[in-house]
Amino acid sequence: MFFGKSFHLHLPTVCCMFGNPLSPPSSPNPSHRSPMANPVRIAVVGDVHDDWNLQEDTKALQLLQKLEALVLMNLPSSCLQLYVRFLQLSGFGAVYRQIFSSLLQFLDATITYLHFSALPGDFGNENVELVRSIADLKLTKAAILGNHDAWRTQQFAQRQEPRQAGERKDRVQLQLECLGEDHVGYRRVDYPSLKLSIVGGRPFSCGGEHLFRKALLDARYGVQDMDGSAKRIYEAALGAPEDHSVILLAHNGPTGLGSKINDICGRDWVFGGGDHGDPDLAHAISHLKETTQLCIPLVVFGHMHKELAYGNGLRKMIVVGDDNTIYLNGAIVPRVKRLGDDQTANTQSSMNNKTSLSSPNAEDTVRAFTLVEISGGKLKKIAENWVSVTGDETSLQEEHILYRREHEGTENPMQ
Ligand SMILES: [Zn+2]
Repeated sequence: MFFGKSFHLHLPTVCCMFGNPLSPPSSPNPSHRSPMANPVRIAVVGDVHDDWNLQEDTKALQLLQKLEALVLMNLPSSCLQLYVRFLQLSGFGAVYRQIFSSLLQFLDATITYLHFSALPGDFGNENVELVRSIADLKLTKAAILGNHDAWRTQQFAQRQEPRQAGERKDRVQLQLECLGEDHVGYRRVDYPSLKLSIVGGRPFSCGGEHLFRKALLDARYGVQDMDGSAKRIYEAALGAPEDHSVILLAHNGPTGLGSKINDICGRDWVFGGGDHGDPDLAHAISHLKETTQLCIPLVVFGHMHKELAYGNGLRKMIVVGDDNTIYLNGAIVPRVKRLGDDQTANTQSSMNNKTSLSSPNAEDTVRAFTLVEISGGKLKKIAENWVSVTGDETSLQEEHILYRREHEGTENPMQ
Protein backbone atom coordinates (compact mmCIF):
# COMPACT_ATOMS: atom_id res chain seq x y z
CA MET A 1 0.00 0.00 0.00
CA PHE A 2 1.64 3.19 -1.12
CA PHE A 3 -0.81 5.57 0.45
CA GLY A 4 -2.96 5.54 3.55
CA LYS A 5 -5.81 3.09 3.75
CA SER A 6 -8.27 5.75 2.81
CA PHE A 7 -6.56 6.57 -0.47
CA HIS A 8 -8.54 5.69 -3.57
CA LEU A 9 -6.90 5.53 -6.94
CA HIS A 10 -10.20 5.75 -8.76
CA LEU A 11 -10.48 9.46 -8.28
CA PRO A 12 -13.50 11.06 -9.90
CA THR A 13 -13.11 12.91 -13.13
CA VAL A 14 -12.47 16.58 -12.59
CA CYS A 15 -11.08 19.45 -14.55
CA CYS A 16 -8.25 21.55 -13.21
CA MET A 17 -6.75 24.86 -14.18
CA PHE A 18 -3.26 25.92 -13.30
CA GLY A 19 -1.26 28.79 -14.66
CA ASN A 20 -4.06 30.24 -16.75
CA PRO A 21 -6.24 32.71 -14.87
CA LEU A 22 -9.90 32.12 -15.41
CA SER A 23 -11.94 34.65 -17.24
CA PRO A 24 -12.61 37.76 -15.14
CA PRO A 25 -15.95 38.34 -13.46
CA SER A 26 -18.65 39.23 -15.95
CA SER A 27 -22.40 39.29 -16.36
CA PRO A 28 -24.35 36.03 -16.24
CA ASN A 29 -25.21 34.02 -19.32
CA PRO A 30 -28.94 33.26 -19.14
CA SER A 31 -28.66 30.45 -21.65
CA HIS A 32 -27.22 28.14 -18.98
CA ARG A 33 -29.62 26.65 -16.48
CA SER A 34 -27.94 23.89 -14.51
CA PRO A 35 -25.65 25.16 -11.73
CA MET A 36 -21.97 24.55 -12.23
CA ALA A 37 -22.33 22.20 -15.17
CA ASN A 38 -18.60 21.47 -15.29
CA PRO A 39 -16.95 19.73 -12.35
CA VAL A 40 -14.91 22.11 -10.25
CA ARG A 41 -12.13 21.29 -7.83
CA ILE A 42 -11.34 23.73 -5.04
CA ALA A 43 -8.27 23.64 -2.81
CA VAL A 44 -9.00 25.11 0.62
CA VAL A 45 -5.91 26.43 2.39
CA GLY A 46 -7.12 27.26 5.88
CA ASP A 47 -5.36 29.22 8.63
CA VAL A 48 -1.87 29.36 7.18
CA HIS A 49 -0.32 30.93 10.32
CA ASP A 50 2.96 31.64 8.53
CA ASP A 51 3.20 28.12 7.08
CA TRP A 52 3.34 29.05 3.41
CA ASN A 53 6.05 28.78 0.79
CA LEU A 54 5.01 29.78 -2.70
CA GLN A 55 7.45 27.47 -4.42
CA GLU A 56 6.73 24.42 -2.26
CA ASP A 57 2.96 24.92 -2.16
CA THR A 58 2.90 25.43 -5.91
CA LYS A 59 4.66 22.09 -6.38
CA ALA A 60 2.14 20.40 -4.08
CA LEU A 61 -0.83 21.93 -5.90
CA GLN A 62 0.67 20.92 -9.24
CA LEU A 63 0.85 17.32 -8.05
CA LEU A 64 -2.81 17.35 -7.03
CA GLN A 65 -3.66 18.76 -10.41
CA LYS A 66 -1.60 16.19 -12.28
CA LEU A 67 -3.13 13.25 -10.45
CA GLU A 68 -6.49 14.51 -11.60
CA ALA A 69 -5.23 15.02 -15.13
CA LEU A 70 -4.35 11.33 -15.32
CA VAL A 71 -7.83 10.33 -14.30
CA LEU A 72 -9.26 12.77 -16.77
CA MET A 73 -7.53 10.85 -19.51
CA ASN A 74 -9.06 7.59 -18.20
CA LEU A 75 -5.67 6.02 -17.75
CA PRO A 76 -5.90 2.79 -15.76
CA SER A 77 -5.08 3.26 -12.11
CA SER A 78 -2.22 0.77 -12.47
CA CYS A 79 -0.33 3.46 -14.44
CA LEU A 80 -0.59 5.75 -11.48
CA GLN A 81 0.48 2.99 -9.15
CA LEU A 82 3.50 2.26 -11.31
CA TYR A 83 4.45 5.91 -11.38
CA VAL A 84 4.21 6.22 -7.63
CA ARG A 85 6.04 2.93 -7.09
CA PHE A 86 8.97 3.90 -9.26
CA LEU A 87 9.24 7.33 -7.72
CA GLN A 88 9.85 5.46 -4.50
CA LEU A 89 12.68 3.34 -5.87
CA SER A 90 15.92 5.18 -6.46
CA GLY A 91 17.48 4.47 -9.84
CA PHE A 92 14.21 3.88 -11.69
CA GLY A 93 12.57 7.09 -10.49
CA ALA A 94 14.34 9.40 -12.94
CA VAL A 95 13.31 7.36 -15.99
CA TYR A 96 9.69 7.19 -15.03
CA ARG A 97 9.61 10.80 -13.96
CA GLN A 98 10.80 11.68 -17.46
CA ILE A 99 8.08 9.58 -19.07
CA PHE A 100 5.51 11.00 -16.69
CA SER A 101 6.55 14.58 -17.24
CA SER A 102 6.33 14.09 -21.03
CA LEU A 103 2.82 12.77 -20.56
CA LEU A 104 1.95 15.75 -18.41
CA GLN A 105 3.30 18.15 -20.99
CA PHE A 106 0.98 16.51 -23.49
CA LEU A 107 -1.91 16.80 -21.05
CA ASP A 108 -1.09 20.44 -20.33
CA ALA A 109 -1.37 21.17 -24.02
CA THR A 110 -4.61 19.33 -24.60
CA ILE A 111 -6.80 19.74 -21.52
CA THR A 112 -8.61 22.75 -20.18
CA TYR A 113 -8.06 22.79 -16.44
CA LEU A 114 -10.38 24.32 -13.92
CA HIS A 115 -9.01 24.86 -10.48
CA PHE A 116 -9.68 27.27 -7.67
CA SER A 117 -8.23 28.12 -4.29
CA ALA A 118 -10.20 29.36 -1.26
CA LEU A 119 -8.25 31.00 1.55
CA PRO A 120 -10.19 31.79 4.74
CA GLY A 121 -7.49 33.93 6.37
CA ASP A 122 -5.13 34.04 9.37
CA PHE A 123 -2.16 34.05 7.03
CA GLY A 124 0.12 35.31 9.79
CA ASN A 125 0.09 38.11 12.32
CA GLU A 126 -0.14 40.91 9.73
CA ASN A 127 2.47 39.13 7.61
CA VAL A 128 2.35 41.33 4.52
CA GLU A 129 5.15 39.55 2.69
CA LEU A 130 3.40 36.20 3.07
CA VAL A 131 0.11 37.62 1.82
CA ARG A 132 1.96 39.09 -1.16
CA SER A 133 3.38 35.64 -1.86
CA ILE A 134 -0.10 34.10 -1.73
CA ALA A 135 -1.31 36.77 -4.14
CA ASP A 136 1.46 35.63 -6.51
CA LEU A 137 0.06 32.08 -6.64
CA LYS A 138 -0.82 31.37 -10.27
CA LEU A 139 -4.24 30.04 -9.48
CA THR A 140 -7.67 31.60 -9.42
CA LYS A 141 -8.31 32.41 -5.80
CA ALA A 142 -10.60 34.02 -3.27
CA ALA A 143 -9.39 35.10 0.17
CA ILE A 144 -10.61 36.85 3.28
CA LEU A 145 -8.53 38.32 6.10
CA GLY A 146 -8.90 36.85 9.59
CA ASN A 147 -8.42 38.24 13.07
CA HIS A 148 -4.69 37.47 13.04
CA ASP A 149 -4.36 39.48 9.82
CA ALA A 150 -5.47 42.49 11.88
CA TRP A 151 -3.52 41.44 14.95
CA ARG A 152 -2.23 44.88 15.96
CA THR A 153 -3.87 47.39 13.63
CA GLN A 154 -6.98 48.80 15.26
CA GLN A 155 -7.73 51.49 12.71
CA PHE A 156 -6.58 52.43 9.25
CA ALA A 157 -3.75 54.95 9.09
CA GLN A 158 -5.14 58.45 8.61
CA ARG A 159 -2.99 59.24 5.60
CA GLN A 160 -2.57 56.53 2.98
CA GLU A 161 -1.35 58.61 0.02
CA PRO A 162 0.97 60.25 -0.66
CA ARG A 163 3.45 58.48 1.51
CA GLN A 164 5.77 60.89 3.21
CA ALA A 165 8.79 60.48 5.39
CA GLY A 166 7.78 58.78 8.60
CA GLU A 167 4.32 57.90 7.31
CA ARG A 168 3.64 54.27 6.53
CA LYS A 169 0.56 52.50 5.40
CA ASP A 170 -0.83 50.18 8.04
CA ARG A 171 -0.35 46.49 7.43
CA VAL A 172 -4.05 45.68 7.08
CA GLN A 173 -4.26 48.15 4.21
CA LEU A 174 -1.15 46.66 2.63
CA GLN A 175 -2.57 43.13 2.83
CA LEU A 176 -5.84 44.26 1.27
CA GLU A 177 -3.90 45.92 -1.55
CA CYS A 178 -1.86 42.74 -2.12
CA LEU A 179 -5.03 40.66 -2.51
CA GLY A 180 -6.90 43.28 -4.51
CA GLU A 181 -10.00 41.86 -6.20
CA ASP A 182 -9.26 38.45 -4.71
CA HIS A 183 -10.29 39.70 -1.27
CA VAL A 184 -13.99 38.87 -1.08
CA GLY A 185 -14.97 40.40 2.28
CA TYR A 186 -18.63 41.53 1.96
CA ARG A 187 -18.35 41.04 -1.82
CA ARG A 188 -19.48 38.59 -4.44
CA VAL A 189 -17.24 37.52 -7.28
CA ASP A 190 -18.79 35.59 -10.18
CA TYR A 191 -16.84 33.06 -12.22
CA PRO A 192 -19.04 32.41 -15.26
CA SER A 193 -16.83 29.71 -16.75
CA LEU A 194 -17.16 27.73 -13.50
CA LYS A 195 -20.82 28.59 -12.91
CA LEU A 196 -19.62 29.63 -9.49
CA SER A 197 -20.03 32.69 -7.27
CA ILE A 198 -18.01 33.29 -4.11
CA VAL A 199 -19.58 35.48 -1.43
CA GLY A 200 -17.36 36.77 1.37
CA GLY A 201 -18.33 37.02 5.02
CA ARG A 202 -17.06 39.51 7.62
CA PRO A 203 -13.31 40.19 7.51
CA PHE A 204 -11.19 40.00 10.70
CA SER A 205 -13.76 37.85 12.53
CA CYS A 206 -12.68 36.45 15.87
CA GLY A 207 -15.92 34.49 16.39
CA GLY A 208 -18.64 34.95 18.98
CA GLU A 209 -21.14 37.68 19.73
CA HIS A 210 -18.93 40.74 19.29
CA LEU A 211 -17.48 42.39 16.22
CA PHE A 212 -13.69 42.32 16.14
CA ARG A 213 -11.85 45.41 14.82
CA LYS A 214 -14.98 47.56 14.69
CA ALA A 215 -13.10 50.68 13.57
CA LEU A 216 -11.67 48.82 10.58
CA LEU A 217 -15.08 47.42 9.63
CA ASP A 218 -16.73 50.81 9.99
CA ALA A 219 -14.06 52.71 8.05
CA ARG A 220 -13.86 50.35 5.12
CA TYR A 221 -17.31 48.77 4.94
CA GLY A 222 -19.58 51.06 6.96
CA VAL A 223 -20.48 48.13 9.21
CA GLN A 224 -21.15 49.02 12.83
CA ASP A 225 -23.01 46.06 14.32
CA MET A 226 -23.96 42.40 13.77
CA ASP A 227 -27.23 43.22 12.02
CA GLY A 228 -25.47 45.57 9.64
CA SER A 229 -22.87 42.92 8.97
CA ALA A 230 -25.51 40.25 8.25
CA LYS A 231 -27.17 42.68 5.84
CA ARG A 232 -23.91 43.28 3.98
CA ILE A 233 -23.30 39.55 3.52
CA TYR A 234 -26.91 39.00 2.41
CA GLU A 235 -26.82 41.87 -0.06
CA ALA A 236 -23.51 40.69 -1.50
CA ALA A 237 -25.11 37.37 -2.42
CA LEU A 238 -28.21 38.91 -4.01
CA GLY A 239 -27.91 39.08 -7.74
CA ALA A 240 -25.77 35.99 -8.12
CA PRO A 241 -26.56 34.48 -11.51
CA GLU A 242 -29.35 31.95 -11.13
CA ASP A 243 -27.35 29.22 -12.84
CA HIS A 244 -24.44 29.65 -10.44
CA SER A 245 -23.66 27.75 -7.27
CA VAL A 246 -22.93 30.11 -4.41
CA ILE A 247 -20.11 29.35 -1.98
CA LEU A 248 -19.80 31.45 1.15
CA LEU A 249 -16.20 32.07 2.26
CA ALA A 250 -15.69 33.46 5.75
CA HIS A 251 -12.95 33.47 8.33
CA ASN A 252 -15.16 31.84 10.96
CA GLY A 253 -18.21 29.61 10.59
CA PRO A 254 -21.82 30.47 11.46
CA THR A 255 -23.60 29.90 14.77
CA GLY A 256 -26.02 27.00 15.04
CA LEU A 257 -23.64 24.14 14.30
CA GLY A 258 -23.19 22.88 17.85
CA SER A 259 -21.77 23.96 21.19
CA LYS A 260 -19.67 21.01 22.32
CA ILE A 261 -15.93 21.64 22.49
CA ASN A 262 -15.30 19.45 19.45
CA ASP A 263 -18.14 20.84 17.35
CA ILE A 264 -17.16 22.60 14.16
CA CYS A 265 -17.30 26.05 15.83
CA GLY A 266 -17.31 24.91 19.47
CA ARG A 267 -15.28 26.74 22.13
CA ASP A 268 -12.49 24.38 23.12
CA TRP A 269 -10.65 26.70 25.50
CA VAL A 270 -13.30 26.91 28.23
CA PHE A 271 -14.92 24.21 30.32
CA GLY A 272 -18.36 23.36 28.99
CA GLY A 273 -17.71 24.62 25.46
CA GLY A 274 -20.19 26.94 23.73
CA ASP A 275 -21.11 28.00 20.22
CA HIS A 276 -18.41 30.37 18.94
CA GLY A 277 -19.87 30.82 15.45
CA ASP A 278 -20.57 34.15 13.74
CA PRO A 279 -24.24 35.13 14.24
CA ASP A 280 -24.19 37.53 11.28
CA LEU A 281 -23.13 34.78 8.90
CA ALA A 282 -25.84 32.47 10.24
CA HIS A 283 -28.51 35.16 9.82
CA ALA A 284 -27.38 35.99 6.30
CA ILE A 285 -27.50 32.34 5.25
CA SER A 286 -30.93 31.67 6.73
CA HIS A 287 -32.31 34.89 5.23
CA LEU A 288 -30.93 33.96 1.80
CA LYS A 289 -32.61 30.56 2.04
CA GLU A 290 -35.89 32.10 3.07
CA THR A 291 -36.03 34.79 0.41
CA THR A 292 -34.10 33.54 -2.62
CA GLN A 293 -33.71 30.46 -4.77
CA LEU A 294 -29.93 30.57 -4.60
CA CYS A 295 -28.13 27.23 -4.63
CA ILE A 296 -25.67 27.29 -1.66
CA PRO A 297 -23.90 23.92 -1.58
CA LEU A 298 -20.96 25.01 0.60
CA VAL A 299 -19.95 27.37 3.40
CA VAL A 300 -16.19 27.26 3.97
CA PHE A 301 -14.21 28.86 6.77
CA GLY A 302 -11.37 28.40 9.26
CA HIS A 303 -10.41 30.05 12.57
CA MET A 304 -11.42 27.14 14.82
CA HIS A 305 -8.39 24.89 14.66
CA LYS A 306 -8.74 21.15 14.12
CA GLU A 307 -6.53 20.31 17.08
CA LEU A 308 -8.38 21.14 20.28
CA ALA A 309 -6.86 23.01 23.20
CA TYR A 310 -5.41 21.10 26.19
CA GLY A 311 -4.94 17.94 24.13
CA ASN A 312 -8.67 17.27 23.99
CA GLY A 313 -8.51 15.58 20.63
CA LEU A 314 -9.69 16.70 17.22
CA ARG A 315 -12.51 18.91 16.05
CA LYS A 316 -15.33 17.91 13.69
CA MET A 317 -14.39 19.63 10.46
CA ILE A 318 -17.56 19.05 8.45
CA VAL A 319 -21.29 19.35 9.04
CA VAL A 320 -23.82 18.18 6.50
CA GLY A 321 -26.79 20.49 7.00
CA ASP A 322 -30.33 19.30 6.61
CA ASP A 323 -30.74 22.05 4.04
CA ASN A 324 -28.38 20.58 1.41
CA THR A 325 -25.61 22.90 2.53
CA ILE A 326 -22.28 21.52 3.73
CA TYR A 327 -20.26 23.47 6.28
CA LEU A 328 -16.51 22.92 6.01
CA ASN A 329 -13.78 24.02 8.40
CA GLY A 330 -10.37 24.09 6.68
CA ALA A 331 -8.26 25.14 9.68
CA ILE A 332 -5.69 22.34 9.80
CA VAL A 333 -2.99 23.89 11.99
CA PRO A 334 -0.12 23.52 11.52
CA ARG A 335 -0.67 22.83 7.85
CA VAL A 336 3.00 22.08 7.20
CA LYS A 337 5.01 19.38 8.93
CA ARG A 338 8.73 18.91 8.51
CA LEU A 339 9.71 15.38 7.55
CA GLY A 340 12.54 15.62 10.04
CA ASP A 341 10.06 15.85 12.87
CA ASP A 342 9.81 12.59 14.78
CA GLN A 343 6.07 12.45 14.56
CA THR A 344 6.02 12.98 10.82
CA ALA A 345 8.86 10.53 10.26
CA ASN A 346 6.85 7.87 12.08
CA THR A 347 3.85 8.64 9.91
CA GLN A 348 6.02 8.32 6.82
CA SER A 349 7.31 4.99 7.95
CA SER A 350 3.82 3.61 8.35
CA MET A 351 2.59 5.06 5.06
CA ASN A 352 5.14 3.63 2.64
CA ASN A 353 8.36 1.72 2.23
CA LYS A 354 10.47 4.69 1.33
CA THR A 355 11.91 6.09 4.47
CA SER A 356 14.76 3.64 4.72
CA LEU A 357 16.15 4.78 1.35
CA SER A 358 17.12 8.28 2.42
CA SER A 359 17.01 10.36 5.55
CA PRO A 360 14.75 13.42 5.27
CA ASN A 361 16.26 16.86 4.82
CA ALA A 362 15.28 19.74 7.03
CA GLU A 363 13.39 21.33 4.12
CA ASP A 364 11.35 18.25 3.27
CA THR A 365 7.72 18.82 4.17
CA VAL A 366 4.21 17.46 4.01
CA ARG A 367 1.58 20.11 3.30
CA ALA A 368 -2.17 20.06 3.92
CA PHE A 369 -4.96 21.00 1.53
CA THR A 370 -8.66 20.30 1.86
CA LEU A 371 -9.97 19.46 -1.60
CA VAL A 372 -13.60 19.97 -2.56
CA GLU A 373 -15.18 18.60 -5.72
CA ILE A 374 -18.45 20.00 -6.96
CA SER A 375 -20.43 18.93 -9.97
CA GLY A 376 -23.83 20.03 -11.14
CA GLY A 377 -24.21 22.28 -8.09
CA LYS A 378 -23.67 19.38 -5.69
CA LEU A 379 -20.75 18.42 -3.49
CA LYS A 380 -19.26 15.17 -4.71
CA LYS A 381 -16.31 14.71 -2.41
CA ILE A 382 -14.34 16.49 0.29
CA ALA A 383 -10.97 15.19 1.45
CA GLU A 384 -8.07 16.29 3.61
CA ASN A 385 -4.91 15.73 1.57
CA TRP A 386 -1.29 15.74 2.71
CA VAL A 387 1.31 16.15 -0.04
CA SER A 388 4.99 15.55 0.58
CA VAL A 389 7.48 17.85 -1.13
CA THR A 390 11.09 16.67 -1.23
CA GLY A 391 13.14 18.83 -3.56
CA ASP A 392 11.35 18.49 -6.88
CA GLU A 393 9.66 15.24 -5.91
CA THR A 394 6.08 15.34 -4.74
CA SER A 395 3.74 12.56 -3.69
CA LEU A 396 0.34 12.22 -2.11
CA GLN A 397 1.03 10.89 1.37
CA GLU A 398 -2.43 10.75 2.85
CA GLU A 399 -6.00 11.31 1.81
CA HIS A 400 -8.70 11.36 4.48
CA ILE A 401 -12.13 11.47 2.95
CA LEU A 402 -14.48 13.70 4.92
CA TYR A 403 -17.49 13.38 2.64
CA ARG A 404 -18.50 11.49 -0.45
CA ARG A 405 -21.78 11.44 -2.32
CA GLU A 406 -21.87 7.85 -3.51
CA HIS A 407 -24.68 8.45 -5.94
CA GLU A 408 -27.74 10.63 -6.20
CA GLY A 409 -29.49 10.82 -2.86
CA THR A 410 -26.82 8.99 -0.88
CA GLU A 411 -24.62 11.06 1.34
CA ASN A 412 -21.79 9.63 3.33
CA PRO A 413 -20.15 11.98 5.82
CA MET A 414 -17.07 10.23 7.18
CA GLN A 415 -17.10 11.75 10.65
ZN1 LIG B 1 -8.67 33.35 13.31
